[in-house]
Amino acid sequence: MEMIKNRSLLSALCEPANSAHTANLAANLAVTNPATGEELGCISTDSEADIYAAIERSAVAQKSWQKTSAKERATILHRWYQLLMDNQADLARIITLEQGKPLAEAEGEVAYGASFIEWFAEEAKRTYGDTIPGHTRDRRLMTIKQPVGVATAITPWNFPIAMITRKAAPALAAGCSFVGKPANQTPLSAYAVVELAYQAGVPKELLQLVIHNSPEVVGQIFCKNEIVRKLSFTGSTRVGRILTAQCAETVKRVSMELGGNAPFIVFDDADIDTAVAGAIASKFRNAGQTCICANRFYIHDAVYDQFIDKFCAAVVQLKVGNGLEPGVTIGPLINHAAKNKVLRLIEAAVAEGARIVTGGNHRDGLFVEPTVLTDVSQTMGIVREEIFGPVAPVIRFSTDEELITMANDTIYGLAAYFYSRDIGRIWTVAEALEYGMVGINEGSISTDVAPFGGIKQSGFGREGAKEGIDEYLEVKYLCFGGIR
Ligand code: ADP
Repeated sequence: MEMIKNRSLLSALCEPANSAHTANLAANLAVTNPATGEELGCISTDSEADIYAAIERSAVAQKSWQKTSAKERATILHRWYQLLMDNQADLARIITLEQGKPLAEAEGEVAYGASFIEWFAEEAKRTYGDTIPGHTRDRRLMTIKQPVGVATAITPWNFPIAMITRKAAPALAAGCSFVGKPANQTPLSAYAVVELAYQAGVPKELLQLVIHNSPEVVGQIFCKNEIVRKLSFTGSTRVGRILTAQCAETVKRVSMELGGNAPFIVFDDADIDTAVAGAIASKFRNAGQTCICANRFYIHDAVYDQFIDKFCAAVVQLKVGNGLEPGVTIGPLINHAAKNKVLRLIEAAVAEGARIVTGGNHRDGLFVEPTVLTDVSQTMGIVREEIFGPVAPVIRFSTDEELITMANDTIYGLAAYFYSRDIGRIWTVAEALEYGMVGINEGSISTDVAPFGGIKQSGFGREGAKEGIDEYLEVKYLCFGGIR
């Protein structure tokens, strides 16, 4: 933590482990570096009473915030955006230290996270309603859009900054207040960006973070509290189901960005070099720990050997290690449970007949070697489950029909990727894939300007783009009568 120049970014951090803070473990949350296992420090947690109080303060703050003009909100958000970019190097280091991704990727995340603030600063001014041609002579009809009120969010550890800004920025732009709970593994990045929001002029009560040693406690309060009007969640489908059910009790507006199981498809007419580059980008970003990472590869018979050769040649170039070291492209996984799951999936696949063509060697700590598996079948756990690690299972296919059936054979529907040069096939396959996002001859699809989100058990609602702000707005219909 010594290398962070702007010390205000660490204001949430208590003293490191051996200090008096550890005497009261229940009230503190230790944050560790997954690359080294070293404790970075701890932050103090909130009691249930603190969380209720934060929600009540949030409701008061929202009432005055909703009266501000869109331009006033946009000005503050623009300042916040600029502060993230001004502190990009420090924020990236904090991400790498607590999350593990390589520094270059962490810098990319800061810019990506900041881009949502800039985008929604602009969208704040465009929350147009409609005037509607009336159905009788004496009436005039219109709609206005208004903020939903107090919005809450629960975010994951894999993008500790971008997942906060992708939710908080549209909420504030729309005129909502925001109470977020970052992932317990990566709170420091979240508290750092919120500190910058305060420096940009966001009132403290309007944008708050809370954290508790048991995420369930925060989830219960957010979902069941009647003051809270909205919950936005990014995380696993398992937890998404729980939160959706809990929100039913108060009929709360909900957005769910959940797990994925992205197919990565290469047809016989694809440009193989482009496909390999896309496969590396899509599979190995964040060591395979993104919900839109390619999870299973389908390669056409005619190009199978060529793809495998080139893909493996690119995979062996990846460098595993501490994300702070120059040249490292694959950092550690987030914790032992994640590593054990990935190793278990590889072992089970091999026991069922899969072949390791590259990788698969033991690594100490939380590191997993980038691994390619062939002779994989559709029924293996490694194809059915979200891997969340740097492992690519490859399946061979020969017809488009068989391919579409296998690609859609999952409860998930977040992202899919395919490579082809045939315009007819491109349209047919793009329309047939049951996914919220499809990369066509492209493995990196995330951007603030396009709608991010899934279908099926990958969730509902869209983030970013013009759709993103609607998640925090209600449409009110006004009917003007008695007009002569
Ligand atoms: P991941 O597999 O990415 O860790 P999770 O769904 O477990 O995904 O976690 C995503 C976020 O949800 C984190 O902030 C985590 O603390 C939180 N979380 C986990 N379980 C619950 C729960 N039962 N209720 C509310 N939040 C939860």
